Amino acid sequence: MGGLAAAITLRKVGIDVTVYEQAPQFLRVGAGIQMLPNSSRVLRGMGILDRLRNVSFEPYSHLNRVWDTGEVKRELPMPEDLYGAPFLCMHRADLHEALCSALPPEVIKLNKKLTGLDHDGSQVDVSFADGTRATHDAVVGADGVHSLVRSIIVGKDAPLHKGRIAYRAVFEASRMPGEIAPSRTKWWGIDRHIVIYYTTPDRSHLYFVTSVPEPADWVTAESWSSKGDVKELRAAYEGFHPEVQMVLDACPDCHKWAILEREPLPHWSDGRVVLLGDACHPMTPYMAQGAATSIEDAAVLARCVEATDGEDLDRAFRDYEANRKPRTSRIQAISSANTWMSGGNDDPSWLYGYDAWNVPLAVADASHATASVG
Ligand SMILES: Cc1cc2nc3c(=O)[nH]c(=O)nc-3n(C[C@H](O)[C@H](O)[C@H](O)COP(=O)(O)OP(=O)(O)OC[C@H]3O[C@@H](n4cnc5c(N)ncnc54)[C@H](O)[C@@H]3O)c2cc1C
Repeated sequence: MGGLAAAITLRKVGIDVTVYEQAPQFLRVGAGIQMLPNSSRVLRGMGILDRLRNVSFEPYSHLNRVWDTGEVKRELPMPEDLYGAPFLCMHRADLHEALCSALPPEVIKLNKKLTGLDHDGSQVDVSFADGTRATHDAVVGADGVHSLVRSIIVGKDAPLHKGRIAYRAVFEASRMPGEIAPSRTKWWGIDRHIVIYYTTPDRSHLYFVTSVPEPADWVTAESWSSKGDVKELRAAYEGFHPEVQMVLDACPDCHKWAILEREPLPHWSDGRVVLLGDACHPMTPYMAQGAATSIEDAAVLARCVEATDGEDLDRAFRDYEANRKPRTSRIQAISSANTWMSGGNDDPSWLYGYDAWNVPLAVADASHATASVG
């Protein structure tokens, strides 16, 4: 998501880009994704918001309920005019396709697994598993939570796995005897939760994603296509509200995914190499902000490059970090604690009202310290 988004925004400011992706093809793996207004505003600037509206469900509210009684802990209606951009829920593959549609096909090189990277201050040489090499003026490492680029420019370490996994599935709503609420509902249990929403405008498909303790150290299975056991899943949500039971009873199969995160990194760039998205600020999915923040990153990165007329990329990358890290670190911390919208009445506009296209940009000092955001 972040790599495609950055390719779109950098092209908008006149930069030639090539996207190298290790996968031989993009598959339609069953998962939904929420785009809160802070990210849909960026998608609008990329020119793909209307395309996405046609394939997305617009939930009435951000609804948080108690796992068994269904009591409302907090509900935030999300009309488009609240934050000036819509709240959309969609199939992940539809977002991916929309991002791809904004790029000329020849920009995306599939089956290119990065294996090495050398940089000397003025150019970056990259090498791939197929034995080919390429030289570029700069590299944006948007290669996810297990980022090779991150391990080269920051150092090797493993992401944090706090013993929780996500079960998830997309399936046809007609399998259920009834309907779910027209909101994005998070059901808050004592040590687990489940988030449920429709992913299509006609409510023909729905999605759920959970967070459950996993006794085994299940961090090795990291693929979006790892299968889960529906019976284990249903057992994990026994006693939950009838609406949750209805969804899980109707679910034909599911996938599971280890929930990973990291502490904020000491730095995001080294000369002409810079990180973006999960490569530099992976977070738990509990605020639905991982892809959103990588999409925001893309807009701010392009603005920082444009501010130097593309002439001083080292500087642009430091400025980008200075502008992004305070925000993503704050989101990482709240997401890790899993407290967002669990109650209270605090104002979420700092998150959803953020405008990556227009937020005033700070300038980093030469030693990487962060200047204040205006
Ligand atoms: C269960 C779950 C639910 C989520 N729900 C939401 C949500 O509702 N909203 C939201 O905003 N976020 C959500 N997220 C977070 C979101 O999925 C991630 O934050 C987002 O995908 C990060 O995007 P990225 O581009 O940084 O990394 P990725 O999406 O991981 O992309 C990295 C890409 O790099 C490629 N790659 C990796 N290594 C190499 C290499 N060596 N050479 C070439 N290519 C390589 C990978 O194949 C991949 O295509 C969720 C996450 C999870 C786990």
